[in-house]
Amino acid sequence: MPSYDAIIIGTGQAGPALARRLVTAGRKVAIIERKLFGGTCVNTGCTPTKTLVASAYAAHAARRAAEYGVRIEGAVNVDMKAVKARKDAVVAASRDGLERSLRTLEGCTVYEGHGRFVAEKKVAVNGSELVADHIFINVGGRAAIPSIPGLDRVPYLTNSSMMDIDFLPAHLVILGGSYVGLEFAQMYRRFGSEVTVIELSPRLIPREDEDISRAVADFLKAEGIDVRVDSKVVGVEKQGNSTAVTVESAGKRLQVLGTHVLVATGRRPNTDDLGLDRAGIATDARGYIQVDDQLRTNVPGVWAMGDCNGRGAFTHTSWNDFQIVAGNLLDNDPRRVSDRITAYALYTDPPLGRAGMTEAEVRKTGKPALISTLAMERVSRAYERGETRGFMKILVDRDSKRILGASFLGLEGDEVIHCVLDVMYAKAPYTVMQRAMHIHPTVSEFVPVMLGELKTLQ
Ligand SMILES: Cc1cc2nc3c(=O)[nH]c(=O)nc-3n(C[C@H](O)[C@H](O)[C@H](O)COP(=O)(O)OP(=O)(O)OC[C@H]3O[C@@H](n4cnc5c(N)ncnc54)[C@H](O)[C@@H]3O)c2cc1C
Repeated sequence: MPSYDAIIIGTGQAGPALARRLVTAGRKVAIIERKLFGGTCVNTGCTPTKTLVASAYAAHAARRAAEYGVRIEGAVNVDMKAVKARKDAVVAASRDGLERSLRTLEGCTVYEGHGRFVAEKKVAVNGSELVADHIFINVGGRAAIPSIPGLDRVPYLTNSSMMDIDFLPAHLVILGGSYVGLEFAQMYRRFGSEVTVIELSPRLIPREDEDISRAVADFLKAEGIDVRVDSKVVGVEKQGNSTAVTVESAGKRLQVLGTHVLVATGRRPNTDDLGLDRAGIATDARGYIQVDDQLRTNVPGVWAMGDCNGRGAFTHTSWNDFQIVAGNLLDNDPRRVSDRITAYALYTDPPLGRAGMTEAEVRKTGKPALISTLAMERVSRAYERGETRGFMKILVDRDSKRILGASFLGLEGDEVIHCVLDVMYAKAPYTVMQRAMHIHPTVSEFVPVMLGELKTLQ
């Protein structure tokens, strides 16, 4: 029975980095991958979607070229085969590089197959049973498929199968108006598809503040996306070459006819076929592996990192999980999940960069707070670039002067948010940034300006 110091199940965003750290520390490691090296981020998540978003942006910019004095003769056409080929090349470079680095990592054995616990410290893969004192689970998640009558009888797409598309869907109907759904919605609209987004909640991206949801809905609608909120999908059926999606809204039923349906209604962890019961590893009701602040499961010597532990749903949270585990295990550095500050982006154009609490969350605390908002129309860089949609919002604790959160919906919002994030990590008062001299002309130069215009949050 092959014996290792550590077994890592899954090559998501945490596992491979941990494998490298462990072998450097002299440990004998086995790493198991059942499908594509690099997992969701590299193959069906961040990397391909941001590559596709870049193609969509190029098409959008080409259509707006005349506004900038640039003449393009004839119509702007998108070659979907070329778009996919570009995406595939970027993904392949990343995936192959990762696979090569693992296969050539001395002290690390790569197993290709489905790993499954057969006992506390024993994992079966391809008919072999591997044992180790330390086991790290990094199995990620997949699209959750809602139980909608008829959905199992029609062809539908998920973020994974979207990656195989090399043609233009005539009408893409997207179930789910949150982060994943909206990125695909704008991208396919810009490629040239008709796009309808159907969202159950009264507004898009319901976890964000209402003003953010409204602004995002406005610019998506302005691009010609049909946004239906407060709309419950109650049935799906094939009608000739189309798929009919029956929607219930405001007490009425209506049908949306699309050529393709994308299901983007949430994610679920890949823990259902992992033999967790054989190892006695506890999960919550939704299948997320329960972990403590240092990512230890209830079974000593077993950790869970990344999306499968339900403590984050991003590449950077999974990477941070790796840092927490490595810090505690190898560096005598007691890092904790609770040390991190919420941060993420929505990669529409313009993007939304988020840090810390939303305005609604700040209000819920009941603490006295200050707020400042600034329309992107006031930002000279955005004006010069002709991209003035959106606004920035920042919230500060009135008494401690610490920044509580920010939502930057606008040009470079996903980058600019980091100047706020770093001041939050430094636990410095906002006045530090208010007095800082930022570079002109940038979007970031307006963050100190905003901090000089704080008002009481009513
Ligand atoms: C469309 C989309 C866009 C996204 N965009 C962003 C973004 O822009 N920024 C961002 O931060 N996040 C983004 N995310 C989220 C991000 O992709 C995930 O949070 C991240 O990939 C989580 O990584 P992970 O380490 O948990 O595991 P994953 O990347 O999911 O990898 C898990 C790996 O484990 C393997 N595996 C599973 N079970 C087993 C088993 N039993 N045996 C062996 N191997 C197994 C899987 O095959 C997979 O390779 C996006 C997600 C989606 C769906």
